[in-house]
Amino acid sequence: MKAEEFISHEEILETLAYAEKNKNNLVLVDEIIDKARLRKGLNHREAPVLLACEDENKLQEIYALAKQIKLDFYGNRIVLFAPLYLSNYCINGCTYCPYHAKNKHIARKKLTQEEVVAEVIALQDMGHKRLALEIGEDPVNNPIEYILECINTIYSIKHKNGAIRRVNVNIAATTVEDYRKLKAAGIGTYILFQETYHKESYEQLHPIGPKHNYAYHTEAMDRAMEGGIDDVGLGVLFGLERYKYEFAGLLMHVEHLEAVYGVGPHTISVPRIKRADDIDPSVFTNGIDDEVFAKIVALIRISVPYTGMIISTRENQQVRERVLHLGISQISGGSRTSVGGYMYEERPTDTEQFDVSDQRTLDEVIKWLMQLGFLPSFCTACYRKGRTGDRFMELCKSKQIQNCCHPNAMLTLKEFLVDYASEETRILGEKLIETELLNIQKEKVRQVCAGYLKKIETGMRDFRF
Ligand code: SAM
Repeated sequence: MKAEEFISHEEILETLAYAEKNKNNLVLVDEIIDKARLRKGLNHREAPVLLACEDENKLQEIYALAKQIKLDFYGNRIVLFAPLYLSNYCINGCTYCPYHAKNKHIARKKLTQEEVVAEVIALQDMGHKRLALEIGEDPVNNPIEYILECINTIYSIKHKNGAIRRVNVNIAATTVEDYRKLKAAGIGTYILFQETYHKESYEQLHPIGPKHNYAYHTEAMDRAMEGGIDDVGLGVLFGLERYKYEFAGLLMHVEHLEAVYGVGPHTISVPRIKRADDIDPSVFTNGIDDEVFAKIVALIRISVPYTGMIISTRENQQVRERVLHLGISQISGGSRTSVGGYMYEERPTDTEQFDVSDQRTLDEVIKWLMQLGFLPSFCTACYRKGRTGDRFMELCKSKQIQNCCHPNAMLTLKEFLVDYASEETRILGEKLIETELLNIQKEKVRQVCAGYLKKIETGMRDFRF
C-alpha cells in the first residue's frame, strides 16, 4: 500500500473539519469518551473530536481515563533507557536538525569501536540496560555494516554486573534487506519518527538528501515489518506542522499497521523541537504549549491503549512529571545527545543534537520516579523471550503482562539498587520493593520473586531479565 493511500491528505482534512464541526457536540464527545472506556482504542475520526473539544470538564475526564488506562495496562512501571549517538555525519537537509549537511561549523564525529566500548561502559556504570542508537544518514560514513558492527560490540561488552540487553535503533529509512540485517543483529525496536505527516511541509522541511522522499520515509515501517522487525516505534516532531493534522496522521499510521500486519506500533514518541547548534525553535510557528502537549499525550494513551509511550529529556522535569501521569510508559534518564558524550565527566556540547532540558543523573531520575509512586524498570525480558509484535500485544491486551513485567521490574530495580544506586536511592528502593512484593497477588509468583531478590542480594547472577 502506498503512503498517500494510508496517510490520505483529503481524509485528514475531512477529519479535521468533522472534528471542528463537532467540538461542542457534547453528546458525541461523551459517546467517544464512553467508547474509549472500553479500552479498545479510538480511530482517527473519533479522537480528533476530543482533541478539538475545549470543554474543561471533558478534558478532566479524558485525563482521568488516560491515567486509569495506563495503570490498567502498564501498572505503575516506568521503563528506563538512554540514547547513544554513534555518528552525526549526515547528508540530509532537515531544517530543524543541527546535523543537517549544510551545517559546516558543527563538529562531525563518528565513534570508533574503542569509543563505543568506552561509551557503553559509562552507560553500564550508570545502570542502563536498554539503549536507543541514534545515527545520522550517510552511506559513506555510516553504512549499515558500521551500525551492525556497533550493535555487535555493544551486546558483547561484559563489564562488572553490567550488560546492555536491548538495543533499539533509530536510523533513517532503509531497505528491506537492511532491516533484515538489523533484525538478525538482535535489535529491539526500530524507531523512525515521521517528523510530519503533511507531505508538502515534509518536502520543504527536508529539502535535500534521501530523506526528502516522503513516500520512502512514510513506508519505512512497512519495509521494516517485511524485513521481520515486528516492534516499530512511531513519532511526530511536534512544532513542524499543525498538531491536529499530525495527530490524525499518526492515528491513521497506527490503523494501517494494525490492518496490514495485525500489530500496531510498539511505541509512540512525542518529541518537540528544541534549541540546537544552528536551530532556533521559535522559527517554527507550529510549536505547541505544555497544555496542548499534555492533551495530546492523554489522547494518544486512550486512542492506542496498548502502545508504549516515550518521553525524552527534551522535556524538563515538570513537563515529564505531568505526562507520566497521563500515559507515558518509558523515559530516558541521564541522557547526553552528543557523539561520545558519556565517557567525559563534563557534558560535551560541540556535537550535541539538541539541548537536554532534564539534566539530572539516572540515579536522581530513579529516586524521583519512586517518590512519585512509580516503579522504575530496567527489564528487557520480553524481547529476549520472543514476546514481540503481536505476541506482546496479546499479553498486554489480556493484562497478563502484569504477571511477568511487574516482578521483572522489581528484580531489575533491585539489580540497579545493589549495583549502582546512591545510598538514599537504595533505601527508598528497598522499601518500595518490600511493598510491591506484598502486593503480588499470586503466592507462587511472590515466592519466586522473593527467591530471585535474595539471589541478587547475595551476588548470584545466573539469570537475566
Ligand atoms: N537520522 C535518523 C533519521 O533520520 O531518522 C535519526 C534521527 S535523529 C538522531 C532523531 C530524531 O531527533 C529525529 O527523527 C528528529 O525528530 C529529532 N530531532 C532532530 N532535531 C531536533 C531538534 N532540534 N529538537 C528536537 N528533536 C530533534
